[in-house]
Amino acid sequence: MTEQLLTVQDLTTWIQTDQGVVRAVDGVSFSIPRGETFALVGESGCGKSMTALSIMQLVPKPAARIVSGSIRMNGQDLLQWPEVKMRTVRGRRIAMIFQEPMTSLNPVMTIGGQIQEAIRRHQNLKGKPARARSMELLEQVGIPDPAKRFHEFPHQLSGGMKQRIMIAMALSGEPELLIADEPTTALDVTIQAQILDLLKNLQERTGMSILLITHDLGVVSEIAHRVAVMYAGQIVETAGRQSFFSEPRHPYSRKLFDSLPTGTKRAQPLAVIAGLVPSLTQTFPGCRFASRCHLAWETCQDTPPLWIETTPDEAVRCHLFDPQQTENQPAGETTAAAPSTPRPPAEQPKDEVLLKVNGLKVHFPIHRGLFKRVVGYVKAVDGVSLQIRQGQTLALVGESGCGKTTTGKGILQLVRP
Ligand code: SF4
Repeated sequence: MTEQLLTVQDLTTWIQTDQGVVRAVDGVSFSIPRGETFALVGESGCGKSMTALSIMQLVPKPAARIVSGSIRMNGQDLLQWPEVKMRTVRGRRIAMIFQEPMTSLNPVMTIGGQIQEAIRRHQNLKGKPARARSMELLEQVGIPDPAKRFHEFPHQLSGGMKQRIMIAMALSGEPELLIADEPTTALDVTIQAQILDLLKNLQERTGMSILLITHDLGVVSEIAHRVAVMYAGQIVETAGRQSFFSEPRHPYSRKLFDSLPTGTKRAQPLAVIAGLVPSLTQTFPGCRFASRCHLAWETCQDTPPLWIETTPDEAVRCHLFDPQQTENQPAGETTAAAPSTPRPPAEQPKDEVLLKVNGLKVHFPIHRGLFKRVVGYVKAVDGVSLQIRQGQTLALVGESGCGKTTTGKGILQLVRP
């Protein structure tokens, strides 16, 4: 039997707002075995991050509170522990990294100072041993020239390097569980791939488990062992990665896949999930997805779907998988892949050229010395030509710092070409 590191059972977290109580996390259960990556997937506002904050017991008080449930780590229920004992868990047994590393790092403290502080707190090391451990961690997360970077400040590092520093700090306590909340959302695709590789390698080396919070199915396919899909505060489907990507079961999961832009869907209108995520201040008489589900029937409106285990390892919250409910299902409805909700075809671009850019150059002078003499130029945009027809969408793609934004600013003459 697989050894579970973390078991969350029936977790319920509410937030008090002016509009009433928001049931942000409403009876969430899952387990993470040692050494595995478990991905919690869903749209913004579905309760993913609040689930993570509940595990850390860092929900924003006094508005938010954990109402019921249990969070067991190695069999011990963390929700029964007082705050003073939880402080020995955070950073040491469970560490967390966030979406935007710049706002998580202290801008007026050196990289080395920040890592050493984390080491002091979690491992009680000071002086030379703390410095040596900092260097080790910087090397472990792939920071080039750690001795130099040790003395630098966050603003001197790129986004990818800042995220590596955050990971180094999270590793300083040698955690058993790393919670990564949208760890690559703010990064370019190339840096994103590097960070995902780094997390995979670190997991192989240290054996830690990872709870990955993301809305990005591409990230899930790269790194997750198991997947849970959240919708409106509840988990609606859980499955192994392979099975989830080959045969998503819940109508919401299928629609998420339908709405992904892929190469084969070029020039076709993308499917959209009609409607909005319902407000979580209400109580639901039936299925929470009913107002957006094209397979919904009467039962879906007035009976909440049960959690149905389709295999020992997979489960789904939908009447279509409940033999007792499908008896009342109107003829013609099946569990086959849900057809997409097509948008009206996009208008074809007209032939008329709207904008034509020819050989655009934006060069920034480099000033040096007492008299600020110009000693060279940063050629941010260096001979860009493009044209856009009326009604056409032109995508300008590239890594940070390649000149995309400056091209836009040059076109608007917010910087002088
Ligand atoms: Fe759609 Fe009904 Fe299943 Fe909900 S229970 S996802 S409304 S079919």
